[in-house]
Amino acid sequence: MSGCSTQKICYDSKVIAEEALMQNRARNNYAAGQGPINVYLCHICNCYHFTSKGEPSDLLKTDKDRIDRLREASYWEDKFRK
Ligand SMILES: [Zn+2]
Repeated sequence: MSGCSTQKICYDSKVIAEEALMQNRARNNYAAGQGPINVYLCHICNCYHFTSKGEPSDLLKTDKDRIDRLREASYWEDKFRK
C-alpha cells in the first residue's frame, strides 16, 4: 500500500487498523482526549487511517485492560534493550 494524499499511514482492513491503534496507544502515553482514538475508512485511498476526531472507538473502552498489558509489555521490552 503506497501513500495517500492525507499523508497518513494506510491500513488494509479495519481489524489491522484497530490493532495498530491499540499498539499505538499502548506505546504512547496519551493524556485523555489526546492521540488517535478511532479508525475510519478513507475515501481517497480506500484504506483505513487513524483519526483523533469524533467518538472514541468502543475498542478503546472495552480493551483498556489489554492496552495496559501491551504497555507493560513494551515497558519490559524497553528495559531489555538498554
Ligand atoms: Zn487515505
